Amino acid sequence: MDNDIQSKNFIEQIIDKDLEEGKVKKIYTRFPPEPNGYLHIGHAKSVLLNYGIAQEYGGNFNLRFDDTNPGKEKEEFVDSIISDLKWLGIKWDGEICYASDYFEKMYEAAVTLIKKGLAFVCELTADEIREYRGTLTEPGKESPYRDRPIEENLKLFEDMRNGVFSDGERVLRAKIDMSSPNINMRDPVIYRVAHLSHQRTGDKWCVYPMYDFAHPLEDAFEGITHSICTLEFEDHRPLYDWVIENVGFENPPRQIEFAKLLLKDVVIGKRYIKKLVEDGIVDGWNDPRLVTLSGLRRRGYTPESIAMFAKLVGVTKAQGEVEMPMLEYCIREDLKPKAKRIMAVLDPVKLVIDNYPDGQVEMLDVPNNLENPELGSRQVPFTKELYIEREDFMEDPPKKYFRLFPGNEVRLMNAYFVKCTGVEKDEAGSISVIHCEYDPETKGGNCEIRKVKGTIHWVSAAECVKAPVRIYENLIDEEKGVYAEDGSLNLNPESLRVIEEGLFEPYIKDVGPEERFQFVRNGYFVSDLKDSSVGSPVFNRIVSLKSSFKLD
Ligand code: ATP
Ligand code: MG
Repeated sequence: MDNDIQSKNFIEQIIDKDLEEGKVKKIYTRFPPEPNGYLHIGHAKSVLLNYGIAQEYGGNFNLRFDDTNPGKEKEEFVDSIISDLKWLGIKWDGEICYASDYFEKMYEAAVTLIKKGLAFVCELTADEIREYRGTLTEPGKESPYRDRPIEENLKLFEDMRNGVFSDGERVLRAKIDMSSPNINMRDPVIYRVAHLSHQRTGDKWCVYPMYDFAHPLEDAFEGITHSICTLEFEDHRPLYDWVIENVGFENPPRQIEFAKLLLKDVVIGKRYIKKLVEDGIVDGWNDPRLVTLSGLRRRGYTPESIAMFAKLVGVTKAQGEVEMPMLEYCIREDLKPKAKRIMAVLDPVKLVIDNYPDGQVEMLDVPNNLENPELGSRQVPFTKELYIEREDFMEDPPKKYFRLFPGNEVRLMNAYFVKCTGVEKDEAGSISVIHCEYDPETKGGNCEIRKVKGTIHWVSAAECVKAPVRIYENLIDEEKGVYAEDGSLNLNPESLRVIEEGLFEPYIKDVGPEERFQFVRNGYFVSDLKDSSVGSPVFNRIVSLKSSFKLD
């Protein structure tokens, strides 16, 4: 029992207490993305947390688009967010909610504040409002329009709504406290005039609510009990509570903040990702080098691996940075039992078995994943001429090199033992053909006749298929860190390397898009969602097999 309590995160502990004290009966959470970009791994953490809590407590979970800022929002983003959430396995209750569905009710809430003498129409310009606001060390100054009579405020607010004013000419402000130590409480703007068409309400509105006013209302209208957001909103909580209290709700929602997910040396903020997309530095929002959900998906990450990662990262109040290798660990763990293990040679050199019959094609039955017999087996052709990785041969090897070198015998994975008898070189002096002899008694490669230390993979030269392979590295130059002094990004010029002709077992011909494999000894790969098709596959490397990351 004790253990059970300790393993709960601080948000679950708050919820347990609220339930115990009878403050709430049923838990309602939500995920409120603004449709101004694609979702990234940080959003995944947030939505999995909110959705997970609703599931855990038998509560309700809403998906709500926070679409109060039509200048930056688009239907494309709404669609991408829905499709990414479905991919992640998130299921929301009821219909999708939109903040814009509450515009009328929000307007009424503002009228309620005006009637209570708690909001006023202000004529100061944006610059003047900023000037009057004061600083962290100095109190602000009250607007000369602060004490307008209620009737006049009501009339002017209606005029704002009716399009009498141009953008910025009038705003509605909450009347709180210009000398509050919390700048958010210094008569914040709660409505602005903006003659903008909205993707859902069209031209119906030319006043739009500000985030700090809209968000608590959205939560309250939906009966959200626990409104979970990130730490930068901690200072906004007094305003959140002020709005809820003064508009008046029987069951007020409660805001709880947790630390954002930040990844070391990775571009994660929507704003920066958007810039990479708009500047054409990446191949759209789903570029496999991005940590957008659609990018991670194209890179080959699974929803399960992302959920595992979110769980490992945990939920805290203290801001920290997580290393990318932790995410890579999760996809390796997930794919280890799931992915078929196929042979692919990415940097080929030819190997000829001089004592193997010319023209013979031997079909070997090879298990797809020794850890998971359910994945069955496949036929792999073996022939006299093969390709192996260039790095699996050395003419003049150092000690402890157990792969192929003149006079040494190795195991060709799933096939035979071969012994190197010599090499041919091209004019430039690099090795063009490695000659070997095989021992027919060693078929299967697991024989007990004698031991060999090295095992290398191969493909048949005559039977292999070719396909391009993309090797991705961090978009950011890790030596320099994410940002340069002028605020621009330190990009890694070698974040994408294309191997035009990787060589594969023929099995790979029939692979459709988004199939994941381990190419033995080379890493985990996925056939590209966008560019791959049956008959002409294109592979993305998800991760290599090696890692320095250890779960402690
Ligand atoms: P960004 O910081 O990338 O611009 P945002 O916070 O503006 O993102 P929203 O669409 O407003 O994006 O976010 C929806 C929800 O996701 C919010 O509750 C927000 O707090 C949460 N969220 C955004 N980024 C992260 C992150 N890095 N880690 C955890 N939660 C996040
Ligand atoms: Mg935001």
